[in-house]
Amino acid sequence: MATDIRPRDPVLPPTMVPLATLIGRELRGGKSEKPAIRYGHAAFAKRGEDYFLVRPDCLRVPGDASSSFSVFAIFDGHNGVSAAVFAKEHLLDHVMSAIPQGIGREEWLETLQRALVAGFVKTDIDFQRKGETSGTTATLVVVDGWTVTVASVGDSRCILDSQDGVVSLLTVDHRLEENIEERERVTASGGEVGRLNLCGGKEIGPLRCWPGGLCLSRSIGDTDVGEFIVPIPHVKQVKLSSAGGRLIIASDGIWDALSSELAAKACRGLPAELSAKLVVKEALRTSGLKDDTTCLVVDIIPTDHTHLPLSPRKQQNKFKSLLFRKKSQNFSGKPNKLSSVGSVEELFEEGSAMLEERLGKIHLKNSGHLRCAICQMDQAPNNDLSVTSVDGFCPASNPWEGPYLCADCWRKKDAMEGKRPRESTMSR
Ligand SMILES: [Zn+2]
Repeated sequence: MATDIRPRDPVLPPTMVPLATLIGRELRGGKSEKPAIRYGHAAFAKRGEDYFLVRPDCLRVPGDASSSFSVFAIFDGHNGVSAAVFAKEHLLDHVMSAIPQGIGREEWLETLQRALVAGFVKTDIDFQRKGETSGTTATLVVVDGWTVTVASVGDSRCILDSQDGVVSLLTVDHRLEENIEERERVTASGGEVGRLNLCGGKEIGPLRCWPGGLCLSRSIGDTDVGEFIVPIPHVKQVKLSSAGGRLIIASDGIWDALSSELAAKACRGLPAELSAKLVVKEALRTSGLKDDTTCLVVDIIPTDHTHLPLSPRKQQNKFKSLLFRKKSQNFSGKPNKLSSVGSVEELFEEGSAMLEERLGKIHLKNSGHLRCAICQMDQAPNNDLSVTSVDGFCPASNPWEGPYLCADCWRKKDAMEGKRPRESTMSR
């Protein structure tokens, strides 16, 4: 997975970089203005288990309107609505509470990549404590200026229709049927993967994990299925060109009916509100109402435009041929990689289910106390730190190189990696 992060400007004390220099640097980059954000939502319910979240005016720095960012999310629940409702109410807060106060925008965007992991896991731990059994997908999108960060578990996709006419997937489908790496991970962590077995031994339907019979390999909730169904999100961060672009975030009711290309094409050049309706309508026209169908369309628009202009056809053809070439070289069969396209800069992508690789290595401290990198609880030094490498109690054969985790979060990590019997995780 690409983990390259944009080279940063040399670190200088703040007083050594006059504001005019910073502004000049931005102007030379052609990105002096923040883009405008327009969005639309449409849905058609069959079971009523899809939920969505729109927060267009969040502030990175309290009281500072120039630090605004927007958040959009879709939660597609299963086995009841409680996990979807819980994630809608708490996930964003848990992500934001994992980002330290008082850091600059660049550092904030980098920290966000890890905070999303912490927030997803904390939401799952808290939901499990309620003792309810439902589960949900979660696709959370943070738009800060031209930078888009997407974190996702499950199969609610987010696609980007860039102004160069390229449609690309910003999420990974965590479906056992389609994701061989996830099948291997689930099996290695103690789950079984197979199809539904009818009397007489006939197997039908998509690959599922057992016990539980879930088709997804990652979700929030699903306490009754097993800890190998992890809440650790795939995270991708990209920077759009100053021409902007359109995001389409939708539950599988859309994606089971429409390809990314068809969804983008169904509404290209139209306002976001109307576009969301058209995507839902097109999905229903193609496949009928088989599932809850929810769609958010988010346009990231240069401020001198009132709407996202249509991409020129000539350019579309050019990039499509480039895309085709790239696809044929792609052994994994995954959709287009943005790094092949000059206009959208890929800043970060990571999908590992190992917390050690996802949380960084810095031990967070708060007034002398160690802070758990997942639940953000502070713990006095030398008090029950035996579970982490901080106190040197990790097995020498398998040293932990991640940040400090409290006993509960350490237990969760072990359970997700199949190192703890299922019964003991269920009893928490
Ligand atoms: Zn913790």
